[in-house]
Amino acid sequence: MAKLKKGSRCTVCKAKGEKEKAVVFLPHHRLALCKKHYIEWFEKRVAKTIKEFRMFSPKDRILVAVSGGKDSLALWNALVKLGYEADGFYIDLGIDEYSQDSKRLALQFAEKIERPLHIVSLKEEIAPIPQIDQITNRPACSACGTVKRYYMNKYAKELGYNIIATGHNLDDEVAVLFGNTLHWDIDYLKRQYPVLKEENGFIRKVKPLCKITEKEAALYAFFNNIEYIEYECPFSEGASSIEYKELFSQLEEKHPGTKLQFYTNFLKKMYPILKEHEERQKQELQKCKICGEPSFSEICSVCKLKEKVKTMAKS
Ligand SMILES: [Zn+2]
Ligand SMILES: [Zn+2]
Repeated sequence: MAKLKKGSRCTVCKAKGEKEKAVVFLPHHRLALCKKHYIEWFEKRVAKTIKEFRMFSPKDRILVAVSGGKDSLALWNALVKLGYEADGFYIDLGIDEYSQDSKRLALQFAEKIERPLHIVSLKEEIAPIPQIDQITNRPACSACGTVKRYYMNKYAKELGYNIIATGHNLDDEVAVLFGNTLHWDIDYLKRQYPVLKEENGFIRKVKPLCKITEKEAALYAFFNNIEYIEYECPFSEGASSIEYKELFSQLEEKHPGTKLQFYTNFLKKMYPILKEHEERQKQELQKCKICGEPSFSEICSVCKLKEKVKTMAKS
């Protein structure tokens, strides 16, 4: 985060005639803030994003995808503080130390805010990620994403939630958007919106932190004394999205606001065009013959994966 000038006062405090010193400077919002007003700013920004994209209302039951990292815990904290009924959902991926540490922190946080955390173990459902990684030829992150989406959707329905909220932040969205643009991957681009509506057995999915940077989320977690897992999943090493994030952070330093502009201008100018294109050639979704979950083919990718794991285990 950009350097704060020595002795700067909090912009909000100053307007109220108070003299609190600023501890953070947000260059692209031209704001210097004290701790209290930073927390307030963060929560207001999340509330505004929820409203702007009509993500959900206080009547909805929200399930937050919790990884134990700063983003998901910051999101959960903010939603509860904003008065939403939000519970947590954690998938134990069975990645040795990483999963043990993140699970402990997720549980510890759930206890702190006194909300339930639902836990699913991938080892019991299919197999742990390291084993899946050996069996499939796809990169571990893509298999991981597939199973996370699948179980999240399945359990949210079973547990009676109607909204799934994930902690994807602006840096995540910008990195994915940039990658998809580099490849002109239209199919992915047209799905890159902070709200995916409920349809065909899928529950509504939302990203309330899409306008919050990684650093802003880390700072919010820090000011709220939230303990989170600080190291990356060992399987994500070398992912190109990490390179794109570095690239954009360099740009951001020189030109504050670059990330937000790249993202919001896509939503404003490009997304509507892609959406129209999609409406014209909507793909038919079916139900998986084995488990009944929505799928683009007769048998869904998770059931196919299960079969593969079973055959491998036998041989
Ligand atoms: Zn202040
Ligand atoms: Zn299936």
